[in-house]
Formats: sequence, C-alpha cells, structure tokens
Amino acid sequence: MVKVIISCMDYRLTEEIHKRANEDTLIFRNAGANVKEFLERLKEIKPDEIIYLPHTDCAAMKLVYNVIKQCDKVNQEVDEKLISQFKDKKFESLEELERLNAKINEEMLKQITPNIKTELIDVKKIQWPNKIAKVYFYPPNARPKEIGAYILQSNSINDVNADIYIAKEKLGFKEVYDCSSDTCKQI
Ligand SMILES: [Zn+2]
Repeated sequence: MVKVIISCMDYRLTEEIHKRANEDTLIFRNAGANVKEFLERLKEIKPDEIIYLPHTDCAAMKLVYNVIKQCDKVNQEVDEKLISQFKDKKFESLEELERLNAKINEEMLKQITPNIKTELIDVKKIQWPNKIAKVYFYPPNARPKEIGAYILQSNSINDVNADIYIAKEKLGFKEVYDCSSDTCKQI
C-alpha cells in the first residue's frame, strides 16, 4: 500500500504534512503543489492513495495570477510547467485561482488512482512556525527537520528546477540547499 502526499513548498506546511503522513509515505512538494511536474514520477510509483494538499495564500498562485493578469515575466520552464495550465481558464480573484488549482490538479491525479483526498489547507486555521528564508531539497521519504523553511521534495533535484527558479528569482531566496545525499550542499 503506497501512500503519497503532494503539497506546496510553503514554509507553513511542513508540520501539517507530517501529521498526515505515515512513516513510509512518499512526500512530493514544489511551488503550488503542482502535479504536472510530478506526473511521470507518480506513474512510476503507482500509489494506492494520494493526499493532495494545496493551501490558501499561496505564493505560487500569486505568481500565476501576476503572470496571467499583470504580465509579470517568468522563464520558459516555469511557463510550461506551471503557468500554461491556467492560460485558457477563467478566474477573477486569487481565491478563485486557488480553488481552480485544486480542481485541475485533482483531475490530473485521477490518471494515477481514484483514491484521492484533496484538502485545501486554510493557513488562517493552522499554527505557523517562524519563517526561515532558506530552501531545502529532500527526497520523498525524508522528513526534513528544518521546520519553517521552504521544502522541495522529489526523486531528483532536476524535477524541481522550475521551483528553484521561482524560489531564487521570484521569492528572492539566496540560500538553496540540496539535501539528497547525507550532507546538505548549497547550490
Ligand atoms: Zn504555496
């Protein structure tokens, strides 16, 4: 029985994700809980159960909103992997976009398994840790100790190239660490 959790890299979510994970749950995290980026990985893993956890007040959704509605610019990879999914969709507000994001990704996950639980985490209803302005990449079986930092998780750091671009260029984080081996290396 393989259980997978997909969520956002946001600093507020790590404890919420760990609460919903078993010891052997695989966790995938990127900017915006963007399933498209993990789809091929998920097809390989063939999970029996997926918990999908997007959240409110999401910086990645603000970026999507700003690119589509206010002509903010991103690189081609971010455009293909994140922005493109929303270009032909109708939304007026950030809240509508967040709900649309949950719906689009849940639909995509149906290609993987019918056993999907989606929960849009309302950040107003959770306790936040203090924010650490650093980004860490870990593999899916890791349980990062850096509570309050931004966490990316996937099988290969190349899976989250677009998200590292977003973290550095759009969110302004200078410190990004690759923790896929025993020691974390700054990249
Ligand atoms: Zn987010």
